[in-house]
Amino acid sequence: MKLGDPRLFRQYAYIGGKWTSGDEGREEAVVNPANGEVIGHIPLLESRQISACVDAAEDAFANWRALRADERAERLLAWYDLIQQHREDLATIMTLEQGKPLPDSRGEVEYGASFVRWFAEEGKRTYGETIPSHIPNAALGTIKEPVGIALLVTPWNFPLAMITRKAAAALAAGCPVIVKPAHETPFSALALAELAERAGIPAGIFNVVLGESAPLSRQLCDDDRIKAVSFTGSTRVGRILIEQCAHTVKRMSMELGGNAPFIVGPDMDPREAALAAVAAKFQTAGQDCLAANRILVHESIHDEFVAHFAERMAALTVGDGMESEVDLGPLIHRRAVEGALSIVDDAVSRGATLVAGDQSDAPGENFFMPVLLTGVTSQMKVWREENFAPVAGITAYRDDDEVIAMANDTEYGLAAYIYTHDIRRIWKLMRALDFGMVSVNSVKMTGPPVPFGGVKQSGLGREGGAMGIDEYLSTKYYCLGAM
Ligand code: NAD
Repeated sequence: MKLGDPRLFRQYAYIGGKWTSGDEGREEAVVNPANGEVIGHIPLLESRQISACVDAAEDAFANWRALRADERAERLLAWYDLIQQHREDLATIMTLEQGKPLPDSRGEVEYGASFVRWFAEEGKRTYGETIPSHIPNAALGTIKEPVGIALLVTPWNFPLAMITRKAAAALAAGCPVIVKPAHETPFSALALAELAERAGIPAGIFNVVLGESAPLSRQLCDDDRIKAVSFTGSTRVGRILIEQCAHTVKRMSMELGGNAPFIVGPDMDPREAALAAVAAKFQTAGQDCLAANRILVHESIHDEFVAHFAERMAALTVGDGMESEVDLGPLIHRRAVEGALSIVDDAVSRGATLVAGDQSDAPGENFFMPVLLTGVTSQMKVWREENFAPVAGITAYRDDDEVIAMANDTEYGLAAYIYTHDIRRIWKLMRALDFGMVSVNSVKMTGPPVPFGGVKQSGLGREGGAMGIDEYLSTKYYCLGAM
């Protein structure tokens, strides 16, 4: 791997400020999904090393929480500057391990860094409140305190931003963090650790553990010294973590799967709406919790919309993310390609029309050519499951009440898109959609100032915004009686 600063490429875990190999020498290879080449190896830590990591975080906690908020902010801003300075190297590492096109990786570094700056500032505003007293001569109020050590379990689709969105909030609140990155994309996490060390974030405050996910997470969920778990990933694994944390009653934040509807009103220009829908569906090759999976188009413009969608989709280039002019990189592994194929087969066998998507054009075994299906129905997997692949399904609807019922017909409730200029329709749909985030006439909706999160089985809690730091703070109520 050619980097401007080779020390950003670390093949060790990072525990208590030390770069650490596995005690038993066990390792795992990490491969580039575009070509199957081994990028590097990571250690698999033993259980006693995981315990040692919690010890280190526990030891470091007292000093970190005792710092003033502006002192913590200085370290976070130094971290932010370093991430920005090393943007190119971080983007290279990300594309090699995740596969996304290099410009998208640069965008993710920028996006991920922006949370560090946001929470550096937000940490200075964790105000308590005064409460008008109902007790004679007493003063009542609240103060906010860090919850304690936070375990952050993160996915491979956004290997850097899903860490900073959690870690910056936790660190600003005064909590140490233990990051468990996805084993497909550990090197982005380790590069962040290297930069955190250089930024003066003390040993034991930012840790990265590596190992077999299930036993490692179980051990950390069982550990009473871990007070919060923040997870981004599938609903399936989210449920496991919630169960595992039940007996130690931890603070939980769950950013789980999505199955976003993309609703196009009859008043829309079909071309304009189709371009937006393509952008909302194929970002990160469809491996995005905000991907527009169920595209619901008013019957009066359906056919025109489909024609424009197919034309724009045909112009997307699939290839190795390190090459220029690539729109879609590979899927994360072969299993993901097989999953996407089975979703397409299921839809076609149940009556959907395959408008485009010839897999014989795929440039390698982990690549998947974008697919457009029309006539998708709620019986099909492409509707029921989060497809996490470049498979777009379009359906026509008759009226607002029908489209509301269709959009809400899912166990997920993360994000929804509405495209219309009719203000009454916007308001009606926005209120009726059972989703944590609704974006009207905009593909872009996320960023540091906004509360990101879902309802139903898309999760618990919010990341970003003023609410994001609350996930790592507990409220202490005080009553000062008259002496
Ligand atoms: P995943 O659930 O398979 O894995 C997420 C993390 O959990 C990884 O670190 C993985 O190693 C770990 N893990 C896997 N099995 C585990 C187990 N048995 N016990 C403990 N940890 C375990 O998800 P993924 O495939 O990495 O990511 C894709 C999913 O993430 C999609 O469902 C997507 O919607 C979701 N996602 C959600 C958001 C959001 O903000 N809501 C953002 C990005 C991704």
